[in-house]
Amino acid sequence: MLKCEIISVGTELLLGQIANTDAKFISEMLTSLGIDVYFQTNVGDNKSRLLECLKIASNRSDIIILTGGLGPTMDDLTKETVAEFFGLKLVVDIDTKIKIESYFKKSMREMTQNNYKQALFPEGSKILPNDNGTAPGCIFEKNGKKVVILPGPPSELIPMFNNYVYPFLKSLSNDIIVSRVIKIFGIGESKVETMVSDMLLSKNPTVAPLIGNGFVTLRITAKSDDVQKAKKMIDDIEVSLRKIFGEYIFGVDDDTMESIVLNLLKDKGSTLSTAESCTGGLLSEKITSVPGASEVFKFGAITYSNESKENILGVSGEIIRRHGAVSEETAREMAMNVKNISKTDYGLSITGIAGPSGGTIAKPVGLVYIGLAYKDEIYVKKLISNGNRDKVRLNSAMHALDMLRRHLTGLKIDY
Ligand code: ATP
Ligand code: MG
Repeated sequence: MLKCEIISVGTELLLGQIANTDAKFISEMLTSLGIDVYFQTNVGDNKSRLLECLKIASNRSDIIILTGGLGPTMDDLTKETVAEFFGLKLVVDIDTKIKIESYFKKSMREMTQNNYKQALFPEGSKILPNDNGTAPGCIFEKNGKKVVILPGPPSELIPMFNNYVYPFLKSLSNDIIVSRVIKIFGIGESKVETMVSDMLLSKNPTVAPLIGNGFVTLRITAKSDDVQKAKKMIDDIEVSLRKIFGEYIFGVDDDTMESIVLNLLKDKGSTLSTAESCTGGLLSEKITSVPGASEVFKFGAITYSNESKENILGVSGEIIRRHGAVSEETAREMAMNVKNISKTDYGLSITGIAGPSGGTIAKPVGLVYIGLAYKDEIYVKKLISNGNRDKVRLNSAMHALDMLRRHLTGLKIDY
C-alpha cells in the first residue's frame, strides 16, 4: 500500500488567514484512489523548516505532495528547497518559458526577471501545465520517492490535480476503485452507525458514514483489479444495507430527496402545491431546484402571519385562535386549502417554531406540524427537531418531502 503525505507551504496558513482547503481536497481524492494519507503538514515560507519537513516526509512516505509557494516572488521557495533537498539542479523548461513570455505579451504587462523563476524545475521533472495561471506544477522521482509540486491557489490546483496528478497516481496501482453512496432519511446518524457497526470495520469494501444536508449517507468503496468484481462487491453490500434500512433508504449517488419526489410525482402524473410558514419557502426552493419541476409544482405560498394564513389560504380564524398557528389543525387546513385553491393533487404544508425564541413548555422551539393532503385524505405529522433555526427548518422541509415520498410509494407515513 502506498503511503502519501501532504506538505502545504504558506505562512498565511499558519497565521490562520486561510484554511487549508488544498490539503482537504487532495486527501479526499487520494482516499478515493485507495492511497493512504498518513500526515498533513503546514509549514511557513521558510527554507530551513521546509527542509526539516522534507527530511521527515522522505523517511516515512512513498509519495510527497507539496502545495503553494510556486509564484514568482522571493517568499515562494518550494521548488528551490525541494530541489536542494533531493540534490537536483533547477533547470529551465523552454516550453514554460515561452508560455510565460507570451502570457505577458498578451496581457501587455512588463515581465520582470523573477517571472522566469516559474520556468525553473528540478531536473528530470515532468511539467504539469497550469491552464488557469502562470506557475506550472511538476512531478519527479528520486530515491524511490515520488514528489508532486502544485500551486497554492485552489482555482489552479484543482484542475491541475484532476487533469494530470489523478491519472498519474491512478496509474501507480492496478486497483480499480468503485464507490456508491446510499442515502438514508428518518434514522439519526448515531443509530445508523450502530446498526452497521460491524460493516464499518470492513476493509474492502469499506463502508463509511457521512453527515450533512439533513440526511445520513453511507459511502461504500470497493477495490479490485476488475470493475465488474468491484461493482459486485458494492451490490452485495447495498443488498445488506437495504435489508437493514429498507424504506428509510430514499436514494443513491446523486439522488436528492427532492429529485426522487419530483420523479415519483411525474411518473404518477400528479401535481403539487405548498403552503409554508416557518420554512419561509425552503420547501418550494428545494422542489424548484430540480430541473423540470414546473411539470408538477404549481403553486407555493409563504404565509408567515396569521392574517395571511386566514386571508390567502382561508384557514379559519377560529381554528388559529383556538389551537394556535402552530397546531395540527392549522397544518391540516393549510394543506387541504392550498391543494384546493391551486387545484393540485397534493398539498403540503409546514407550520412550526424555528426558534431560537418563541417557544413555550407546551409548544417548544423545534415543534413543527407538517400536513399532507391528497384528494380527501389528510395526514399530519408532529415533529420535534433539535438544533438551531437552520437545522429545524431543513429538517422540516426534508420531513415534508419524505412524507410525500412515502405516500407516493405506498409506504407507511407515520413511523
Ligand atoms: P502564486 O503564484 O499566486 O503566488 P503560489 O503557488 O506561490 O501561487 P502561495 O503564494 O503559497 O501559492 O499562495 C497563493 C494563494 O493561494 C494564497 O494567498 C491562498 O489564497 C491560496 N492558497 C495557498 N495555499 C493554499 C492552501 N493550502 N489551501 C487553500 N488555498 C491556498
Ligand atoms: Mg506565492
